[in-house]
Amino acid sequence: MTRVTTNPFDDDKLHEECGVFGIFGSPDAAALTALGLHALQHRGQEASGIVSFDGERFYPHRAIGLVGDTFGDAETIARLPGAAAIGHNRYATSGETAIRNIQPLYADFAFGGLALGHNGNLTNARDLRRILVEGGALFQSTTDTEVIQHLIANATGPRLLDRIIQALRQIEGAYSLVALSRRKVIGARDPLGVRPLVLGRLQDAWILTSETCALDIIGARYVRDVDPGEIVIIDNAGVHSHKPYPTVRQRPCIFEYIYFARPDSTHGGLNVYETRKRIGAELARESHVPVDAVIPVPDSGVPAALGYANEAGVPFELGLIRNHYVGRTFIEPSDEIRHLGVRLKHNANSAPLAGKDVVLVDDSIVRGTTSRKIVEMVRNAGAVSVHMRISSPPATHSCFYGVNTPSQEELLAHRHDVAGMTKEIGVDSLAFISIDGLYRAMAEPGRNEAAPQYCDACFTGDYPTRLTDKDGGNTQAQLSLLVGPA
Ligand code: SF4
Repeated sequence: MTRVTTNPFDDDKLHEECGVFGIFGSPDAAALTALGLHALQHRGQEASGIVSFDGERFYPHRAIGLVGDTFGDAETIARLPGAAAIGHNRYATSGETAIRNIQPLYADFAFGGLALGHNGNLTNARDLRRILVEGGALFQSTTDTEVIQHLIANATGPRLLDRIIQALRQIEGAYSLVALSRRKVIGARDPLGVRPLVLGRLQDAWILTSETCALDIIGARYVRDVDPGEIVIIDNAGVHSHKPYPTVRQRPCIFEYIYFARPDSTHGGLNVYETRKRIGAELARESHVPVDAVIPVPDSGVPAALGYANEAGVPFELGLIRNHYVGRTFIEPSDEIRHLGVRLKHNANSAPLAGKDVVLVDDSIVRGTTSRKIVEMVRNAGAVSVHMRISSPPATHSCFYGVNTPSQEELLAHRHDVAGMTKEIGVDSLAFISIDGLYRAMAEPGRNEAAPQYCDACFTGDYPTRLTDKDGGNTQAQLSLLVGPA
């Protein structure tokens, strides 16, 4: 028997590396945090953790696995008492997840305990880590979140806020943070606002979380997005906003709208589902060919395919069915059937495909391996011609802002032009939405249409921050202490 992974790294998508949640002022803080993390499961399926505070002590629980498996029983939640808690979902960027990397990280500082959870990635974490280690810091994990912890520990100032501001001034890259101290829940978003963070309200409690879908699940009300560069402090006196950094033009991640965020979330004032439909409609305007049916690659291709089909006036059909019950691992009885792997997740539904010319709509092509298998599946189900339309521009560059991306050399769009990719994937035609078309689709009436107003670096190479570690020869997004000093 061969145990193989069907983990998300195999499914040929870019993946968010984390989701965060924090709550202050609820007697059910840990239970609500667990529910919030469950709603954010799509942002990280490798491991999750919660740290609560009951007025006297911090209580941590972290484990590898899905949120429901880790926090689904009443006993675990009962061991996390208190009216304040933060939680974190995580994707690992390497094959093995070390327990010590599971967030929130916790440490005792001179000012007291502090738990920290981070969505994003620092582009100068290795550089900072080297300086910290040379100064005597002892690291226990391989996450860049621990770099932030050490920077806070080394900072000075009468208030925790002063230390956090000092620490964050030194870091480059993308971060949406939640932190829990003895008296406060704290949220911070990087000055460019690359990763999302929203503020919500549930009765007397305040919530900070990555997406509005985590507010919906607990019946909380969306209050507002945390602004880029803003630090939000929540304590018994309410919510305090601090904006200590010079204002710069914000560059939120455009891929949140294309794929990462849940379609029922609202981000930066835009409903993700409606935005994806508009992108699909723009894609149809740019590159439609006459066909009998528009077929989404589920689930992520569905809203764009709906928008595409509506705009093109072509029937929308479910020609691919997704199995939602694929676990993290699967035991294959023999090596011979390993190539069937993609069918664990998708199967062609021959009724709407046989004898038809079809457009397949997907959100992105990363390595192209899954696309090729899906196209083959659709052809085997009887489709006469298969045209693929992609609701993002070609992904030609790696992400260094908290998204799991293969190396640039592995990206299909880096290795081939569209004609080459058409051949590699085996379709009759292939088209991507243009970067201009994407910005047109993102722009609601009255919005500033001038590009760039988002981070679009994986399509353009226009990285909105310095890439200190990469430029210093460290191309890995994640720190790895185990392979030696940077
Ligand atoms: Fe998002 Fe791409 Fe920018 Fe990464 S590089 S933050 S995935 S737009």
